[in-house]
Amino acid sequence: MRDCIFCKIIAGEIPSHKVYEDDEVLAFLDINPVNPGHTLVIPKAHHRDLLDMPAELASKLMNVIQKIGPAILKAVGADAFNLGVNNGATAGQVVFHAHFHIMPRMANDGHQLWHGAQANQDELAKVAEDIKKQL
Ligand code: 5GP
Ligand code: ZN
Repeated sequence: MRDCIFCKIIAGEIPSHKVYEDDEVLAFLDINPVNPGHTLVIPKAHHRDLLDMPAELASKLMNVIQKIGPAILKAVGADAFNLGVNNGATAGQVVFHAHFHIMPRMANDGHQLWHGAQANQDELAKVAEDIKKQL
């Protein structure tokens, strides 16, 4: 898609450090890594976000994540990773071409992804019911 930075990376119009490629999926290093080895896994077809992708394609991305995740960890000497999706602008999505972030984690790297606060059981029950009504 014109004006999509990730489509330009797929087309080779913008350089990137690719770590994996097949017919439908590309993985390359994030230009602004949380930690070394921070990798973006994207479909080659343009879809704006996770919900815009066919489930089969999302599943292929997950297969690639399972394949390259261990290699990324070994390469950078990490023992764990966070898998991230910023789905929608309010969640922090900036590039509207679907992508997963693989973010290697090192002990004491200082990152804290999110804070939770304990909810009461009545609130949890109501939210669960409201969600189930929408399905
Ligand atoms: P989002 O917030 O949309 O989930 O994340 C977009 C990610 O794409 C960011 O982490 C950002 O650093 C990365 N990014 C944006 N432009 C480029 C680029 O031109 N090259 C690479 N390799 N990564 C990019
Ligand atoms: Zn695109």
